[in-house]
Amino acid sequence: MAAYDLIDHEYDVVVVGAGGSGLRAALGAAQQGLKVACVTKVFPTRSHTVAAQGGISASLGNMGEDSWQWHMYDTVKGSDWLGDQDAIEYLVRNAPKAVYELEHWGVPFSRTEEGKIYQRAFGGMTRNFGEGPVQRTCAAADRTGHAILHTLYGQSVRREVEFFVEYFALDLIMQDGACTGVTALQLDNGKMHQFRAKMVVLATGGYGRAYFSATSAHTCTGDGNAMVLRAGLPLQDMEFVQFHPTGIYGAGCLITEGARGEGGYLTNSEGERFMERYAPTVKDLAPRDMVSRSMTIEIREGRGVGPNKDHIHLHLDHLDPAILHARLPGISESAKIFAGVDVTKEPIPVLPTVHYNMGGIPTNYHGEVLTLRDGNPDSVVPGLMAVGEAACVSVHGANRLGSNSLTDLVVFGRAVGLRCGEVVDKAAAVQDAPKSQIDAHMARFDRFRYASGSTPTSELRLSMQRAMQSDAAVFRTGKTLEEGVQKLRAIDAAGSDIKTTDRGLIWNTDLIETLEYDNLIAQAMVTIEGAANRTESRGAHAREDFPDRDDENWMKHTLAWKRPGEGVQMDYRPVHKYTMSDEVSYIEPKARVY
Ligand SMILES: Cc1cc2nc3c(=O)[nH]c(=O)nc-3n(C[C@H](O)[C@H](O)[C@H](O)COP(=O)(O)OP(=O)(O)OC[C@H]3O[C@@H](n4cnc5c(N)ncnc54)[C@H](O)[C@@H]3O)c2cc1C
Repeated sequence: MAAYDLIDHEYDVVVVGAGGSGLRAALGAAQQGLKVACVTKVFPTRSHTVAAQGGISASLGNMGEDSWQWHMYDTVKGSDWLGDQDAIEYLVRNAPKAVYELEHWGVPFSRTEEGKIYQRAFGGMTRNFGEGPVQRTCAAADRTGHAILHTLYGQSVRREVEFFVEYFALDLIMQDGACTGVTALQLDNGKMHQFRAKMVVLATGGYGRAYFSATSAHTCTGDGNAMVLRAGLPLQDMEFVQFHPTGIYGAGCLITEGARGEGGYLTNSEGERFMERYAPTVKDLAPRDMVSRSMTIEIREGRGVGPNKDHIHLHLDHLDPAILHARLPGISESAKIFAGVDVTKEPIPVLPTVHYNMGGIPTNYHGEVLTLRDGNPDSVVPGLMAVGEAACVSVHGANRLGSNSLTDLVVFGRAVGLRCGEVVDKAAAVQDAPKSQIDAHMARFDRFRYASGSTPTSELRLSMQRAMQSDAAVFRTGKTLEEGVQKLRAIDAAGSDIKTTDRGLIWNTDLIETLEYDNLIAQAMVTIEGAANRTESRGAHAREDFPDRDDENWMKHTLAWKRPGEGVQMDYRPVHKYTMSDEVSYIEPKARVY
């Protein structure tokens, strides 16, 4: 084992991650007068948030009547009644405030004729409790995430958040059940760091890369989620993985739902607009889980397009080229580059592709991490918060509505900043890091740095991604899930034979990919075991052997633990069947008809 001299840092708040959620949280904590560090493995403006296209939802009512109550109803229904209704109320009521704040900070939103923020239609967003589509999604053309991320980075620099860029966070420092810091590797020179803090905020994003084909960046490996598992804490609802209906066939890159929001539609090999059959009211603007399932059924029943009848067509060729140019320039370019298609003349070949993780680190609506302790499933883990796609608040429940994630990032990023202002005592001392903890982090690091087995990381990663793609797919059955569980257990066990070749510490991508793989496999395991365990269909989790939603037995969150070297353990947390205020009452479960 190598000896590492750790460089020591002391902060009030350390945020791990500089995507939309991490930046909003960091700048919020800095606004409270706290000393804040932001640690990130990629340059802030390269975080996956930069790729968000379609927009951010808020009931501004710029394009017609709208209300937060309608937005709340849509989000609860979209979540298939797995979302916590107090958190959903918090999300939709604070959304307009959070969007105006972005506007005032400089986000260049597209505009209406009168100069208001332009809003487009998106899946599952309706007027008057499901009557028909509403235009609720605020957009900066089809580069909304890019605009938001750059603005938030500028504002964070202005607020003197201290950035540690291209630092890879390794593990949480835990003492007596509380988090007191995080260790990290500086990627360009191999120096080790310990960040001691009164509050650690995980904003590390999703883990789409556990699958073979995903719209998410290669950096989306859910490192924070895995750090939480290694700390002996649970993840929540990991079986719910969102497939976006329109990934470009073959390449997997995203074509935003905003394309259908602007009037695009899907057709099968018979040229039929099949969504009219599955969702007569909102058609192509049904929620993503329903559209992905409908497309999969069309392909299975022999009505797919192309020589192998294995994908679907998305039409934009009937739209005015001027509109395409003004509102969807990015996806027009992606379609040209990745599918060789001119969207003004031909349909885009598309296929459902892994896109978003509804599950993650359980939190309350202040962003405080929760665990099950002494029978209390809502007990707060001191010193630890989570936000963004890494967190499970849970506002998206079993299925996220498109454009509700960017809202989640800024609303709960803002909430985290406010909460830090309330609970972090500026005058208190920062705790020391116990040597035993640091030694354990370094021992794990060295195990991979010097791994001399016979299986390269890339081989194990590919086996994992293939197993997840085929066995934890849009449709699932007990048989394929069980096969998937067995495959993944074998792949996990084969990790003891992993091989790295580069022993250096200067930009060692071999080592970083191995650490990321180790993070991914733990999350893949809790995902597929959670899916095998949940014997019902709800939102994105569609079991062919249990086709109905079972509210009596399964209206509850899954909690899953996986400690290193051990199997997955499961327990549950009740769904919050109450709201925050008396102004709106609990929305009773109903059939999800669109
Ligand atoms: C192509 C695409 C388009 C999308 N479009 C939309 C949309 O239009 N509307 C919408 O609402 N949602 C959209 N989404 C979803 C939404 O963009 C994401 O859920 C959201 O941006 C995630 O933000 P985040 O802050 O949680 O994490 P990310 O933006 O993924 O950032 C993660 C951060 O964590 C850091 N990090 C991770 N691991 C480590 C580590 N070990 N050490 C140090 N730092 C680490 C990274 O450096 C990065 O800064 C889209 C997603 C994709 C993939």
